[in-house]
Amino acid sequence: MTTTESRIIYLDNAATTRMDDEVLHRMIPFFTDIYGNPSSAHRFGQDAKDAIASARQKIAQRLGCFPDEIIFTSSGTEANNLALWGLAWPQKSKGNHIITSQIEHASVLETCKVMEERGFHVAYLPVDRKGVISYQALQEAITPQTILISLQHGNNEIGTIQPLAELAACAKQRGIVFHTDIVQSFVKVPLDLTHIDACSLSAHKIHGPKGIGALYLRRGVLLAPQLFGGGQEQTYRSGTENVPGIVGFGEAVTRSYPTLRLQKLRASLIHNLLALPGVFLNGPEQGLPHLVNVSFAGIDAETLLEHLSHQGIMVSKGSACHAHELQPSHVLLALGLPHELALGTIRISISKHITEEELDCAVRTIRSCVSSLRSISRWKQ
Ligand SMILES: *Cc1c(COP(=O)(O)O)cnc(C)c1O
Repeated sequence: MTTTESRIIYLDNAATTRMDDEVLHRMIPFFTDIYGNPSSAHRFGQDAKDAIASARQKIAQRLGCFPDEIIFTSSGTEANNLALWGLAWPQKSKGNHIITSQIEHASVLETCKVMEERGFHVAYLPVDRKGVISYQALQEAITPQTILISLQHGNNEIGTIQPLAELAACAKQRGIVFHTDIVQSFVKVPLDLTHIDACSLSAHKIHGPKGIGALYLRRGVLLAPQLFGGGQEQTYRSGTENVPGIVGFGEAVTRSYPTLRLQKLRASLIHNLLALPGVFLNGPEQGLPHLVNVSFAGIDAETLLEHLSHQGIMVSKGSACHAHELQPSHVLLALGLPHELALGTIRISISKHITEEELDCAVRTIRSCVSSLRSISRWKQ
């Protein structure tokens, strides 16, 4: 144990969440008793197959689509990789231009970088100071070669929610395939699939298990598989299904999400943090209900994180994927934050498990850590 207190206050729910007990409970039989391969013709296999069908149905219902429009993958990352390559490839005779934004998750940005090395051209749309992508910028970026637009719904670092309906409608008017990463917003923010051709999901951000994600693919939209083999998932994604994971994902989406309660907690968290001098909110006032991103002038986030962790308070420095990098986050730089302030930034992300009292305790600890670190560095306002 590296903590001085035994109590942990977990405030990193944008990185991952605690799996619900009921989710685990539903998964266990598929490890122990019903472990058949869903492709096997015997009853053991068929029971597993039925469980997958039932989970697919639940996810489709939550999303508002047909069950056969859900393709299970190993993660949100895989869903994003599959979407970008898989949607672009069948259209390469039409063009090679892709549009995304500067604030996407690494699984989109890094895939785009590799695609650039392999002959695609990618436009990275800028955002305003609150992280919003402009409709006009999207319109202007479209060329006759544009075959795919991928813009996220909710941002995992600063919580900005994009005006997705408008952005997707813009793509649709030009007949361009539109994909969105909804890993961080799924079940938290309503989504209208009307003009959306594909979107990526992940279970572990919504109290489901790790290692299971999905891609929604509108009927009739062409997708080239990236994994080949047994032809599972309508041949879009070969590989024996992660049956317990899929069952857990299906259970996780049936749970209600306490949006209103979290919005209230978030608002008071913002209020209490901004009461300190030299603290700035990144992202919008009305963002994702579970996430707050703040910069502290005169503070090194790395040091602050270490102090907080030592006292049992688990927060994050931007996104978990970059937690060990010394470079400021690409999202914060896209907002126009100066390097120094970007390096003094933490992300606090809550869940239904957090109590008001725990959050107050976390704020008190953050305040006292910030004050003492500032007094050491002789920071002046
Ligand atoms: C977590 C996350 C992902 C990646 O999902 P994994 O299942 O962890 O691979 C993708 N996009 C966003 C916005 C995320 O927050």
